[in-house]
Amino acid sequence: MSDALLQVDDLERHFEGLKAVGGVSFHVSPGEVVSIIGPNGSGKTTTLNLVTGALRPNAGSISLDGVRIDRARSVDIAEHGIARTFQNGRVFATLSVADNIEVGIHSTLRAHRPFRRLSHLFLLRWIPLLAELFVAIFGTPAARRERRSIDAIVETEIDRFEARLGPRRDDPAYSLSYANRRRTEIARALALKPKLLVLDEPTAGMNQSETAEVLAQLLQLKAEGQTILLVEHKLDLVMTVSDRVIVMDGGRIIAEGAPQAVRRDPAVIEAYLGR
Ligand code: ADP
Repeated sequence: MSDALLQVDDLERHFEGLKAVGGVSFHVSPGEVVSIIGPNGSGKTTTLNLVTGALRPNAGSISLDGVRIDRARSVDIAEHGIARTFQNGRVFATLSVADNIEVGIHSTLRAHRPFRRLSHLFLLRWIPLLAELFVAIFGTPAARRERRSIDAIVETEIDRFEARLGPRRDDPAYSLSYANRRRTEIARALALKPKLLVLDEPTAGMNQSETAEVLAQLLQLKAEGQTILLVEHKLDLVMTVSDRVIVMDGGRIIAEGAPQAVRRDPAVIEAYLGR
């Protein structure tokens, strides 16, 4: 039994005959930062989509903490401990920064719906509805405790990006700069306290100083022991932050290892770095 946090074996995904991911195996150990690099179309995002449950594999297996997740729904995978961001940055445009962060927490909370579960027992839908109405109006100690703990998590994540998001915490996401939208998205993912943070090109579309800021934040997360799976084009950032680098080409892994070793690998230079 492997002690990897994430274990991926012989993963395959086709799109109408095209093998986007054709037999990929790798692992991420607790506390590691692992990056996947490779030319456009090499299967990086498809791999992330498979790991996070956005896509189902045609073959192979994915385990998180020893539990198979390759057939699980993405919401269950999130609850089990994987949070992600997207290549193009996805936030809810009309929600504030704070509410965007809170949405992430709610997407995996189940404990706040006890009466729905009771409804399965009683088969009388009006009883749980009345009970929920009562709770909505008067609250319960548990609900108030949960409210306080959610508020604390949101504030912690805003504090992480204090200089950038602090002054904007109540502003709607549509009014934010692109870089602040992406920071909000990372904060939302971190609010889930994920075992594994999956980042798809977190610096795409960012200028040099914004990229340097993301690098500093990644190094901070790494120092905190956060396990990260990263897809990123900016090689200087990848080489600085990663413990290991996986190189994909044509849906397969063509090299894997410590950043400096990968950089010198002739197959990598041919397929990617040399282009
Ligand atoms: P990368 O992230 O490395 O740029 P992708 O994983 O996005 O690569 O894509 C790998 C291959 O799979 C590409 O040839 C791409 O066109 C194809 N592909 C990805 N998603 C789809 C899809 N939903 N339908 C059809 N082909 C897809």
